[in-house]
Amino acid sequence: MRTIETLSLLSSLECSNCGQYHDPHKLHQTSVCCNAPLVAAYDSSDVFPLSKEVLPAHSDNMWRYLEMLPVFDVNNIVTLGEGMTPLQTLYRIPQMLGFDRLYWKDESLNPTGSFKARGLSAAISKAKEFGVESCIVPTAGNAGGAMAAYCAAAGIDAVVVMPRHTPKIFKEECWMYGAEVILVDGLINDCAAVAAKIREERGSFDVSTFKEPYRLEGKKTMGYEIAEQLHWNLPDVILYPTGGGTGLIGLWKAFQEMLALGWIPDKMPRLIAVQAANCQPIVASWQGIQPNAKKYNGQPSIANGLAVPRPFAEPLIMDVLKQSHGHSLAITEDDLKKYMQLLARKEGMLAAPEGAALVAALPKLLEEGLILHDENILLLNTGSGYKYLENLQIPV
Ligand SMILES: *Cc1c(COP(=O)(O)O)cnc(C)c1O
Ligand SMILES: [Zn+2]
Repeated sequence: MRTIETLSLLSSLECSNCGQYHDPHKLHQTSVCCNAPLVAAYDSSDVFPLSKEVLPAHSDNMWRYLEMLPVFDVNNIVTLGEGMTPLQTLYRIPQMLGFDRLYWKDESLNPTGSFKARGLSAAISKAKEFGVESCIVPTAGNAGGAMAAYCAAAGIDAVVVMPRHTPKIFKEECWMYGAEVILVDGLINDCAAVAAKIREERGSFDVSTFKEPYRLEGKKTMGYEIAEQLHWNLPDVILYPTGGGTGLIGLWKAFQEMLALGWIPDKMPRLIAVQAANCQPIVASWQGIQPNAKKYNGQPSIANGLAVPRPFAEPLIMDVLKQSHGHSLAITEDDLKKYMQLLARKEGMLAAPEGAALVAALPKLLEEGLILHDENILLLNTGSGYKYLENLQIPV
């Protein structure tokens, strides 16, 4: 429903490296000064204080935070009902693992089965606002399906570039949504190289992670929702399965924005980036094994959303981990499968292996004293397990 006519408070797009201003009324990819990610900034001084009391009257999807989202004309919003996903407490796993309670934010219930819907709803809405005719994305799986769906709804051509080893259903959904699907031998960084070439030839808008500023804005709405759903008291700790880093950085951005708006108290959660042992560039940088991930080589993982060997926004990811007093750790393929099954059997949740990684991380973090059993801990399950079953060799 498009019930709100209030305008976005977007005031500029800033280079994440040097802060240089970029005109928010023009379509951008990365910053012209540093070729770094652009980050949206909002100016609420005209309406200050922007009251959270308006929210109950706003729509029941992520566009309820419209003032803090980048679309200027509400008629350009392309929505499939993404966002306002349930925030629940788990039942049996907290007991098993020795926690008083565990929160579970369930992004599997989004259109196309993952939180990628939020980012692509924002990016394709902006593409529509700027009259873009074709979009392209390199993807480990879920971003491609989401982009294809939102492009279909917007009447925009879609090209998806995906690793050949990705489970079939990720490719099939793109085809169903009418996208052109290009398969590449390698990981997402190899797909990115192919996508860059095609983009140059065709002049498409490139919605690669952090190569445009809008997906981040959609994903940050998870942070707004967590605050609203927990009555404006953030958890002590949030575990997040980190690939390209949009979700992690988006959460932190949302918390900083809400703090500036006076919506939440100044008590920030520790953010913990969970990766796959097969591809753990952030863990390696966090531990100081490498200066950065620019030369990191990873292997595929059943958690394909985590198989991002050289995240473009690595400096921003590291900043969030440092500022939030967070941490980073990796989970083996065996544990991904084991905990996916555990979640299904103990909680009735068929989560993506990326989400299962968070449960697998809990005993390790507890043992190292990095989390406490009585803290408020939130696990952000980024996607549904249904698309991944083909890769699990299930014995029935
Ligand atoms: C893309 C993806 C991730 C990683 O997301 P980032 O925000 O880019 O770090 C995690 N889980 C799932 C299910 C994904 O599709
Ligand atoms: Zn710059």
